[in-house]
Formats: sequence, structure tokens, C-alpha cells
Amino acid sequence: MAEQPLIPPRGKVNLADYDPNYRGQWEREAARERVMALREELSVLQNKLYADGRHAVLIVLQAMDAGGKDGTIRSIFTGVSPQGVEVTSFKVPTEEERSHDFLWRIHKRVPRKGMIGVFNRSHYEDVLVVRVNGLVAESVWRKRYDQINEFEELLAESGTTILKFFLHISKDEQKKRFEERLADPGKHWKFSLGDLEVRKQWDLYMRAYEDVLEKCNRPYAPWHIVPANAKWYRDLVVMETLVKTLGGLPLRFPLAEAGIETVVIPD
Ligand code: ADP
Repeated sequence: MAEQPLIPPRGKVNLADYDPNYRGQWEREAARERVMALREELSVLQNKLYADGRHAVLIVLQAMDAGGKDGTIRSIFTGVSPQGVEVTSFKVPTEEERSHDFLWRIHKRVPRKGMIGVFNRSHYEDVLVVRVNGLVAESVWRKRYDQINEFEELLAESGTTILKFFLHISKDEQKKRFEERLADPGKHWKFSLGDLEVRKQWDLYMRAYEDVLEKCNRPYAPWHIVPANAKWYRDLVVMETLVKTLGGLPLRFPLAEAGIETVVIPD
């Protein structure tokens, strides 16, 4: 098991206490091999989750720009049946989405039983970018932590296992990744000048994330702070957590139809 510093179930969170470079005792090659082995386990477990059809799994991914959300999804779900996984990327809300409550568009994308749903950004944007940029009044976003907890509790009580990952990179690492994007024409599409504006607000985002990690970390929907400067370590932590969680679900294949043991397939 990858040692992973998770946040305590209660109390203040100071992200400066969490080292984005942390990688336990792991070396790159050993971690890659472990991830490959876990991929096979994940594929088997996902197949069983689908066949069983009584549980859903929701993975929430949040990070600063260039934090590695896309890369994590690619790495974790390579080798898993695309039929059983639904990825949703939440962008700036459309006019229709904005004319409903903030959870409306989210609830519609929650995975049904048998499925793994992945949120690339999520309802947490409504207490992150919305808070940092003052897109709604403080009296509105302040209430959202409780609203989110109640929403997630409803999902959990309805058979959805929730795993939330904050991919924690350092400001220096973000600079390095932006520079790589600028140096590679194949990655220019991943960069926008707006990313620099968000980078200027780094500290405000860290405060907003700390509040999220503190206020919305419940046993039914825990946050995992993933040291994400090393992509291979990030993948290992997310993969281990997911496989362990799926392995802990009481999954079983549905019972075979009566009489199946005597069936002979006609020529
Ligand atoms: P990504 O960075 O996830 O690959 P984009 O570059 O399209 O994808 O960015 C999506 C943008 O949508 C981000 O700037 C994010 O802050 C914004 N966004 C997501 N949800 C909301 C929301 N609820 N309110 C305002 N902006 C949002």
C-alpha cells in the first residue's frame, strides 16, 4: 500500500503541511509496475461492479490547472471497459445550468448503479472559483458546504461510494508544466492566458481548498490529498485507493438462471 498522507477527519487543514513531492519509500519503476498490476485488479473489480449492479462509485477529481486531472483519468482507466466508466468534465456553467441550483447539473451526472463515474472538476468549483472570484455573494457560497455534505450523504445512502481526490501540486511544478505546454505545439491547446490569471490567485485558491478539505471531509465522502508533483506517485495513490475501496465492497456476480448447469449448446 502506498503510504498516503490523508487529511485528518476533523480539524483545520493547512496545505503547507502536505508535501506535493512526497513519495514515501517508492521509486518510479517499482510504482509503475505496481500500477500495472493494480490495473488488472481494477479491470476484474469493475467487471464485477457492473455485473452486480447494486453499487455505484463516484470519483471526484479536483486540482489547480496542470494538476494532472486528465493524466490521472488516462492512467487509471487504461484497460477498464469503457462501458462501465463515465467521465464528466464540468466547465463554466451554461445559461441553462445557471438558471437552476448549483447541484442540478451535478446530480444529473451521478453514476447509476453498476457504474464508475468520474468528475473532472465538480460541484466543488462552486466553492472554489466561485468563491475566489466572488461570482455569487458570500452568504450564498457559505451555505454550500452544508448543502454539499447533505447532497453527498444522500448519494452515499443511496448506494454510491464516493472518493474525492485533491491532486496537490506545488506552484513551482505548475510553472514547469505550463512551460512544457508552451514549448510543445501539441500542448498549446491545453494552455490559455486565463490560466495565468488563476495562477496569480494561487494563495486564495489554497485557502478555498483548505476550507473544502476541512468542511466537506465526511466518512461517507472522504477527501484524499494526493501528493501530485510526481505523476507516477499520484497514479499509484489514486489507483491503490480505488482498488482498495472496490475490493471492500460486497460485490458478487448475479445468480445464474436455474437449470444452467444442465444446458447443452445445440450444434
Ligand atoms: P480543464 O481546466 O478542467 O481542463 P477548461 O480549461 O475548459 O477545462 O476549464 C474549465 C473551467 O470551467 C475552469 O476555469 C473552471 O474554473 C470553470 N468552471 C467549472 N465549474 C464552474 C462553476 N461552477 N462556476 C464557474 N466556473 C466553473
